[in-house]
Amino acid sequence: MNGPGPPHVAVIGGGLAGITAAIALAESGSQVTLLEARPRLGGATCSFSRDGLVVDTGQHVFLGCCTAYRGLLAQLGMTAHAPLQRRFDVTVLAPGGRRARLRRTALPGPLHMLPALARYSFLSLAERAVVSRPALAMRGLDPGDPALDAQRFGDWLAAHGQDERSRRALWDLFTVSALNIAGDDASLTLAATVVKTGLLGKNNAADIGVPARPLGELHGDAGGAHLTALGAQVHLNAKVTAIEPIPAGRHGGNAATAPGFRIRLARPVDPASAAPDATDTQDAAAAELSADAVVLAVPHEVAARLIPPGALPPATVGGWAGLGASPIVNVHVIYDRPVTDLPFAAAVDSPVQWVFDRTAISGLNRTSGQAQYLAISLSAADEYVDVPAAQLREQFVPALAGLFPAARDATVTEFFVTRERRATFRQVPGTAALRPKPGTHLPGLVLAGAWTDTGWPDTMEGAVRSGLSAVIELRHTGLSAPGLSGAGSSDTGSSGAGFSRTGSSQAGSSRTGYVDSGLPGSEVNAPASTMEGRQ
Ligand SMILES: Cc1cc2nc3c(=O)[nH]c(=O)nc-3n(C[C@H](O)[C@H](O)[C@H](O)COP(=O)(O)OP(=O)(O)OC[C@H]3O[C@@H](n4cnc5c(N)ncnc54)[C@H](O)[C@@H]3O)c2cc1C
Repeated sequence: MNGPGPPHVAVIGGGLAGITAAIALAESGSQVTLLEARPRLGGATCSFSRDGLVVDTGQHVFLGCCTAYRGLLAQLGMTAHAPLQRRFDVTVLAPGGRRARLRRTALPGPLHMLPALARYSFLSLAERAVVSRPALAMRGLDPGDPALDAQRFGDWLAAHGQDERSRRALWDLFTVSALNIAGDDASLTLAATVVKTGLLGKNNAADIGVPARPLGELHGDAGGAHLTALGAQVHLNAKVTAIEPIPAGRHGGNAATAPGFRIRLARPVDPASAAPDATDTQDAAAAELSADAVVLAVPHEVAARLIPPGALPPATVGGWAGLGASPIVNVHVIYDRPVTDLPFAAAVDSPVQWVFDRTAISGLNRTSGQAQYLAISLSAADEYVDVPAAQLREQFVPALAGLFPAARDATVTEFFVTRERRATFRQVPGTAALRPKPGTHLPGLVLAGAWTDTGWPDTMEGAVRSGLSAVIELRHTGLSAPGLSGAGSSDTGSSGAGFSRTGSSQAGSSRTGYVDSGLPGSEVNAPASTMEGRQ
């Protein structure tokens, strides 16, 4: 390895950012080694198997405006398995059978939402009359203006005529789930990005996409298969413990402009996890490898530990801790019969935020049966993340019955909880300045990850954009070798590569208790409470 020929790039971290970067690099002719600490790819987007049920640890959705993410889906041949609504259409439920429907029209944005907002019965006429006030003001905001990141979204909404009710019953529906932070507390910068891009942009920008395949298949398995087909080496269970710059030429590389890196691993890579046809000549038994360039695509707390001294000022790296973490909890409830025919719904005046019908995707009723599997997605879940499953059951089973009258007569056959303690960074004011650009002071070392400075919230779209930006940065500043010179594209949409293999789920079992779903601090509820849930 590292002789004459295409540059060897190590991508550390196999979440969406790392997968995207690895694909872009491999497609442009680099030799790519993807190192992922976990036994599967996909990072925060993952699935596991539980008594034959395929469970996503956290429900994920995306919007029509997520062009980069949709481009990745297209590359992976997965577009058809993550369908977008034909038109933005959300049913909003409240206890006691009250419901409203927010459905866009075919009018051009931002007019497309006005008829639905005018009819939105969870706000008074007076409240509806002033909803367009912040929407209009938002159009004049520049998310790139650092002053915006000093403001809380809730304060800004209040200053534009949005009372407590409007903030909770309307604005929270979108920003709490998109930013994973209590609506009032969100950074105005990120809220403005969401609202301007999603709700005030093109009329199809907010159309909602919901995966129809488990996330583990959609991203991890498909990403691994695609990378293998491109000749990349994918090493799972490959935890990187250090990245050491080595002087130019020491590793015999082709990189006249880059010094190269030695990457140390917690243990030797497993040769069995490498792509069989790959041409990497690294010693698979060694607990280190060298590379001409590195894409570091891990969560910020890991990046802070791994980034070599001199790559960025210590104060910059130290500042990443200020990004913090915000939890997401999913409450999974299986009924013995159907209780709703809605594919998903939002809720107001209820602890339920969003609820999704996961019956088909999970494989429930594969052989027979009429059961229904609902998953409640709770963003900004600080108040729930440490609550025992039994207590969550006491709260959320009645809450669902309040929203779905048919649930009152149904029997809950299974109840369990998945918790992602570090689901995203805390997207509060003051975080924009902490998010780094992809480049570092070490040519050939770049950063990726949804937490980096993508301009987007910590989302799948942000992750994919970060992976592409990292590759573009490498092309500009890292290596001038041929394989990298064509890497990346300023177009963050699909690159059009046409592999379409889908793999089988690499899910692990949760039957014996806490399951590591790929994020630090992620859990499925304890066995005792799981068993309690069975009837
Ligand atoms: C429950 C939940 C619900 C969400 N819902 C949505 C949603 O609806 N829509 C949306 O767009 N986004 C959603 N998100 C956010 C989205 O999943 C993330 O923004 C995105 O997946 C982050 O991708 P990433 O590649 O930047 O990071 P990650 O997915 O965190 O990937 C980083 C990878 O690095 C690996 N790694 C860590 N340390 C090492 C090491 N030392 N060596 C090697 N590898 C290492 C990790 O194992 C991981 O695989 C949700 C997140 C969660 C947790």
